[in-house]
Amino acid sequence: MGRRHVYTIEDVPQIGTRYFGIVDQGTNIVEVRPTSLCPLNCSFCSVAAGPLEPRRWADFIVRKDALVEALKSVVKFKGGGVEVHIDGMGEPAVYPRLVDLVQEIKEIGGVSVVSMQSRLFVLDERRIEELAEAGLDRINLSLDAVDPALARELANAGYYDPGRAMALAEHAVRNTRMDVLVSPVWLPGVNDGEIPKIVEWALGAGLGKRWPPVLIQKYVPHKRGRNPKGVKAVGWTSFWKKIKEWEARLGVKLDWRKENPFGVQKRAPLPKPLEVGKKVKVRIIGRGIFRGEHLAVPVKLAGDPLTDRALTVVSPGRELPPGAEALVKIIEDEDNILIAKPEVIYL
Ligand code: SF4
Repeated sequence: MGRRHVYTIEDVPQIGTRYFGIVDQGTNIVEVRPTSLCPLNCSFCSVAAGPLEPRRWADFIVRKDALVEALKSVVKFKGGGVEVHIDGMGEPAVYPRLVDLVQEIKEIGGVSVVSMQSRLFVLDERRIEELAEAGLDRINLSLDAVDPALARELANAGYYDPGRAMALAEHAVRNTRMDVLVSPVWLPGVNDGEIPKIVEWALGAGLGKRWPPVLIQKYVPHKRGRNPKGVKAVGWTSFWKKIKEWEARLGVKLDWRKENPFGVQKRAPLPKPLEVGKKVKVRIIGRGIFRGEHLAVPVKLAGDPLTDRALTVVSPGRELPPGAEALVKIIEDEDNILIAKPEVIYL
């Protein structure tokens, strides 16, 4: 099967791939992805992260300076009042320069909120305090079960400790300026009994100082994700019916659809220099995250982080060597995530 490659990304455009960098969906919330590494193997992971996933053949870590420099241009383009949300195809808490990254993001003019999605358990109290001092405003805690045995089973990792994550979240809300919201994924038939326990814990622990304390996520099967047997995805009507049931039973607001508590505003999306159907000559940098995928960069770059793009080149069954050049055709361009197929390969 071969070993997984781990790439450190520096001189590669930070927009264009879902593996790392910056993802914009045309709002004032900009997602930043510093790494695709994750120590867990959650059975329902939408991005199939973790060390046990056989479909992954590469992971990525971005050099902080490259990411921050590109982000400065994006925030300027977006105007003021930007929330930068640190997330990605992995666990951001394992990023080695996380505290520095948060601090430098917070120092960018026009950034009003810095938030991060995390399972927290790899951090400690001191690191939580450092993140708060660096300017992290909110942690979105991923927690799907408080029962340790079930949590470990769902994470497919005996070393995962939900109690540790909860203790760190409590430390954050009680001893720092940061807020924490908990965002469990409801897996129908699997963790139904855990959701009320998570809600009660969140309220008792004082989560939701500035934002909602709990945001329950719907389990949505993804083509590239892990979709556990025995979990039936419900439709949106059934999902909101269940949320309303929990709201009534627990006496707490869980449906925030009307309030816009995160202040999401529509903003101009980033320019789209490469669109479906366009052909471009690229250089292969190395593997992409999933087998058959490669990371590539156009041979000609403008040197402008707002318009330069990285691309994912799919070539199933054939690994393209780093340095090879290819003429590729863009087949997907949603939100500037560019997927391309090779037409001619120059080895
Ligand atoms: S759901 Fe999150 S913590 Fe779990 S494997 Fe995926 S990225 Fe890692």
